[in-house]
Amino acid sequence: MQQGISFIDLGATLIGIIDADSFAIVVDSGISNDHAKKIAKAAGKPVKVVLLTHLHADHTGGASFFAKGGAEVYISKYELSFIINHELNTALLYGGIPPKMYRRPFFLSESVNAIPFEHEIPIEIGGVKILPIKTDGHSIGHTSFLVGSTLFAGDALTSPNVTAKHKLIYNYCPVRALAALERIKQLDFTETILCHKDIIDKKTAINYACLQREHILSVYADLKEIINGKPAGIETITELVCKKRGLNISQDSYLLAISTIKGYLSDMEARGDIAVYFEDGRILFS
Ligand SMILES: [Zn+2]
Repeated sequence: MQQGISFIDLGATLIGIIDADSFAIVVDSGISNDHAKKIAKAAGKPVKVVLLTHLHADHTGGASFFAKGGAEVYISKYELSFIINHELNTALLYGGIPPKMYRRPFFLSESVNAIPFEHEIPIEIGGVKILPIKTDGHSIGHTSFLVGSTLFAGDALTSPNVTAKHKLIYNYCPVRALAALERIKQLDFTETILCHKDIIDKKTAINYACLQREHILSVYADLKEIINGKPAGIETITELVCKKRGLNISQDSYLLAISTIKGYLSDMEARGDIAVYFEDGRILFS
């Protein structure tokens, strides 16, 4: 691993730690204050900067702990509103104010003030040069960070083990997620840290990006087969996709799956594969 860069394994996620001489910069913050405390301990120096790859609560949940300790929190300008008011995350997934079962740490973290950055414009913090790279698709304004020869890929790239386990990887916009994978393949790095969850070299990263592309394409193919000219609503389509992929839907995966499938269907409409229309009081896809 590149000198000055380390990580902590929190179980579900890997958190990057960058040594900036008198302080530490961390990439993502875990899901809770407990995670933040573990990260702070592993950093071994005061954490003065938190770089967030994206707005999801399993990455932002520890940010308020660091902010209360005086750290600056950075996020892409496209996701700034979501971190200032984290309720927007659950609002996006649920489509309105969510019931109690979705108002908990996996979906909702404490809101925190943050500093926005622009994609592709380098930032320098404590002598460390950081390039925030546009890798949206998984979320609305997802960022990967290139620091020297290390890429912090966030959730733009996922280990195939994790994909196999979850069977349907969450994406806000699958077509943009495909573009992000192509972007990662073109970048100049020697190692990359995936939040979920691996540390791999460039060659392996290209292989993972190809596998992830196949995963996304397989979901489009499933949807095409399921819809096949028969008009159906989003609930039915989501149920059939999950069944086809052997995904036992749970309370949490339901919300992620239905949101993800909506993204796929909008992509398919945009390229003329399906029609989306309103009939008998329902949005139908055929
Ligand atoms: Zn995520």
